[in-house]
Amino acid sequence: MFMNRTSSVETTVGLASSEETVASRSDACASSSRHIVNALTIDLEDWPIAVLGPQHEISGRVVENTRRLLQLLSWHHVRATFFVLTRVALRFPELVQEVHAAGHEIASHGHGHELLTTISPRRFEQDVRTSIEVLTQLTGQRPLGYRAPAFSIVPSTRWAGPILADLGFRYSSSIFPIRHPRYGIPDAPNAIHRWANCDLIECPVATVRALGRNWPVAGGGYFRLLPGMLARGALRWVHRQGRPAVVYLHPYELDVGGVSFHKDEGLSVSLRRHLTQALFRGRMEHRIHRLLECFTFTTLEDLLRRNRIQAGADRMSHPEQASAGQHRGAAGAVVRASLPRS
Ligand SMILES: [Zn+2]
Repeated sequence: MFMNRTSSVETTVGLASSEETVASRSDACASSSRHIVNALTIDLEDWPIAVLGPQHEISGRVVENTRRLLQLLSWHHVRATFFVLTRVALRFPELVQEVHAAGHEIASHGHGHELLTTISPRRFEQDVRTSIEVLTQLTGQRPLGYRAPAFSIVPSTRWAGPILADLGFRYSSSIFPIRHPRYGIPDAPNAIHRWANCDLIECPVATVRALGRNWPVAGGGYFRLLPGMLARGALRWVHRQGRPAVVYLHPYELDVGGVSFHKDEGLSVSLRRHLTQALFRGRMEHRIHRLLECFTFTTLEDLLRRNRIQAGADRMSHPEQASAGQHRGAAGAVVRASLPRS
């Protein structure tokens, strides 16, 4: 059973920044934020299948959009976790190999993007097995992390955790601890925690707490639609709670003409959806630059390793100081992790 035990989580993140990257960052960024290591995650998927439904084909736009994102990450020397939808991987295997070759973590976003709330546990297991096979074949490595389509691990689909653990996953980033009509577990911890019924670590995406509830700010449409200062302020708020932030982005959010293109190709898109999905895409590139200038990011796998968080028994370790001048991708950092189960 999920219980809110956030207050008992102890997670401290360490120093990690190189002189070169610090020098290149804007003075407008709070200096304290540069020293907290966060996780950057990308859901590698195409817009129609992700937003309109799993019946849609994969379009070539995912390739160009992902390459633009790769360029941004490369410019800022940031490694991220890519949760890859393996229907995209089968259509464009070279794209996934390109992401992997650039040093990013390849994790699973499942195969067909069917929401867990719409399928049986058996079908879910088949979907995830397929994604593991595809990714392992493409990269030579079994994925350690999983993110459910549209964060569809909700109270009624908690059965997914033990299945993921049995399939060998170490962590999931599938629970959005917010109240939302289609997803979310509002009383789930908003810090990294362990599942109660299996050997799996959960890494929720960042939320801020205000007016007695958790609010989404640091990813996807929320990151695109809310003022940039609000999103950056939210990350600093998360840091003040002693936690790293898990941020998520989609390649298609950089695709300014994407929604119109898909409509021209014959997809039916309501006016409301067109507006909410296409609005402010033109400012995403600048916004991502600012995000990567102001904060330090790494992969989820690396974030867990730095904090000595492993599936299995809790580990306590002594803090280590990263030495000055280390490249932030390699800097040691880290900490105490005594995680609650929930
Ligand atoms: Zn998705």
